[in-house]
Amino acid sequence: MKGLLTVFAGAAITAGSAWAEGLQDYPICPTPFTAVRVEDGFWGARLETNRTVTIGYAFKKCEETGRIDNFAKAARLIPGSFRGTPFDDSDVYKVIEGASYSLATHPDPQLDAYLDGLIAKIAAAQEPDGYLYTARTIHPDNPPGIASPKRWLNDCGDLQGKYGDSHELYNAGHLYEAAVAHYRATGKRTLLDVAIRNADLVASVWGPGKLEIPSGHPEIELSLVKLYRVTGNRTYLNLAHFLLECRGRGKGISQAQYANHKPVAAQTELVGHAVRSVYMVCAMTDIAAILGDAPYRQAVDAMWFDMASHKLALTGGLGARHGGEAMGDAYELPNAEAYNETCAGIANALWNHRMFLLTGDGKYLDVLERVVYNGVLSGVSLSGDRFFYVNPLAADGNNTFNQGHSDRFPWTGCACCPVNIARFIPSVPGFAYATRGRCIYVGLYLSCVAEIPLGNGKVTLRQTTDYPWSGHVRLEVLSEASSEWELKLRVPGWSVGDAVPSDLYRYLTPSGAVPQLTVNGDPVRWEKASGFAGVRRTWKRGDVVEWELPMPIRRVVANEKVAADAGLVALERGPLVYCVEGSDEDGHVSHLVLDDDVALTSEWRPSLLGGVTVLRGRAAGTYRLEDGSAERRTTELTAVPYQVWCHRGANAMAVWLPRTADKSVPLPRPTLAGTAKALASHTAPGDTLGALNDQIVPARSGDTSIPRFTWWDHKGSAEWVQYDFPQPVRVGSADVYWFDDEGRGLCRVPQSCKLTWYDGSQWHQMDKASETGIGKDRFDHLTFAPVTLSSLRLEVQLKPGFSGGILEWRVSP
Ligand SMILES: [Zn+2]
Repeated sequence: MKGLLTVFAGAAITAGSAWAEGLQDYPICPTPFTAVRVEDGFWGARLETNRTVTIGYAFKKCEETGRIDNFAKAARLIPGSFRGTPFDDSDVYKVIEGASYSLATHPDPQLDAYLDGLIAKIAAAQEPDGYLYTARTIHPDNPPGIASPKRWLNDCGDLQGKYGDSHELYNAGHLYEAAVAHYRATGKRTLLDVAIRNADLVASVWGPGKLEIPSGHPEIELSLVKLYRVTGNRTYLNLAHFLLECRGRGKGISQAQYANHKPVAAQTELVGHAVRSVYMVCAMTDIAAILGDAPYRQAVDAMWFDMASHKLALTGGLGARHGGEAMGDAYELPNAEAYNETCAGIANALWNHRMFLLTGDGKYLDVLERVVYNGVLSGVSLSGDRFFYVNPLAADGNNTFNQGHSDRFPWTGCACCPVNIARFIPSVPGFAYATRGRCIYVGLYLSCVAEIPLGNGKVTLRQTTDYPWSGHVRLEVLSEASSEWELKLRVPGWSVGDAVPSDLYRYLTPSGAVPQLTVNGDPVRWEKASGFAGVRRTWKRGDVVEWELPMPIRRVVANEKVAADAGLVALERGPLVYCVEGSDEDGHVSHLVLDDDVALTSEWRPSLLGGVTVLRGRAAGTYRLEDGSAERRTTELTAVPYQVWCHRGANAMAVWLPRTADKSVPLPRPTLAGTAKALASHTAPGDTLGALNDQIVPARSGDTSIPRFTWWDHKGSAEWVQYDFPQPVRVGSADVYWFDDEGRGLCRVPQSCKLTWYDGSQWHQMDKASETGIGKDRFDHLTFAPVTLSSLRLEVQLKPGFSGGILEWRVSP
């Protein structure tokens, strides 16, 4: 602790990192966000919403849900038992981190005082030896849920056959990140001292011959590197390295799901839980850079290649699977079923920033830009208080893909994503600039004034742009003194015809346009080298660089190995991925067809979705006809940026559109059933309620080639399906086509069925006038005295030992 004080004495709050302290670190030094003053524009609005809405909202939710009281309870300041899940502590830390970033650029005495009060509770909740984990401190003998009777062992251990996941180290990691942010923003050591006491405890418990289990949810490793930077204490860097070295060595859970199936240096693919594996590889990149660890460098390069070539969603999202929140196999890139957790998108940005700092290659910033503008910003509403945990590339407007919601939720039990947004957004300006020797890299384009440390001095640059809506960027040198240095402007892959730095996606046609560069009005020839265009000269005050990135509308197709995107095309303009929404297309999108030769135009809409450029064209739609066939008609298509989708209620959406009619799903005719919302007592995973009224006529009851609805795996039970109508309708008959896969599976036509109806206040039994009886390979036809109803329910009794289902359910007046 003695050496610490000298380091602190010299630590300027804006220094941002070890580079300024002369510690070993990445070869490229990022200009801290505190030195980048964002001026209005796209990011000005997003930062302001995060500062004035999201951070306060997240603190309020942490209070309402008991997350903050848990610290007061652990400190015995108030009585009561632990509420929530033990990893909830980390949510509070993440909002403190975001609030500190906000304080660093916008002094706010009220927020400063609030943090002081909160940090006092956290400090009081810390046990004398530094341990901090409220669930155990409140209940030392019998901690709840994922905590175990003994400290640490359940983090990634396997106690009595019960898997770990206590998240003790994960909580600690977010504590350290918050502490470093708070110290740098305020100069106060209150939270930093808490973090150091905790890290010293972890360092005393872990080590060769001591505890050697890995972390269950990586995070502490990369935060220990931050703690090393702010304290100069190499113990924390070495501890991060040791924790990584614990992985895949037969201790703790040996599973790919935990990226713990092999020693990290031997890993070549990104596998398992997406957020865990990417946080892990962030820390590996830190170690590769700071310690010059060659095997780590090889491993992170291999894992990055795997990510960019096989597993990157077009939106930059990662994690194909809902199950285990996991990475998929190579080319497993589903659309409606995609998970793409907001946290995994943030992790991908953090990792790619590190890869850039390690290599100086702009391709990593291309991936960072792709995920930030698309798969991360989609995670928060323009209002700043609604969130996506899950970011699919298609939706039908009904599917509750987002943790039980079909749109953005206000909060959720596992709140990792909202609080990650709160801390990530204010750090975005920190990706804009970086330096190496006499080079200044411009990584992101946003309106700002930056004071960039260079050598012993600094260079002040003003950047003015309407990015991402326009590709025109103007840079003006504001520094008084002239000096020689090289300006390196990122040449985004999309501006020169490379959709991604791999063969996973490509543009359908070349655009021909190339970025144009002028200095003080004179055209300058440039060459793309490692993703940048460089201009070296003696710069003086008032020099102006104009950088014009052409933004034609681009059609993207996926590698043919991506089965989910076969025959489909997506639209991009500049860094933005576009989508079509039901709100612009009469409620549906799956019937749309975008032929390759349809002309598209872009149009600025200042009053739509906070002001966006939309893409428009005369596309086609397919429509179901009376006889079951389909016809094609011209229709207007409007595409909006994916980042702002779902601001007009739960909504059908598609990023990828059919290039030919055979890939589209014809729009059902306007029928009674077509207007209804379908519900069921149970729906088999993978089946869809949309099958009931999609107007696809089955070939037979065992037809497995079309969408179906089943109650699988419920057997022999009483079940139901129901149509809710938007307003009362008159119904006089119903037709049901049962699913029955005798000879293949265990679904049969039901033993019995009946209809009930709801008149707006109570349910009634339907008096049947006639019925054909329950049969196979045909529609069962039921008629009755017409009634006016708001809901119609079909109740069935399944045969003993069997399940059942329905392929189509029509209703008629
Ligand atoms: Zn999350």
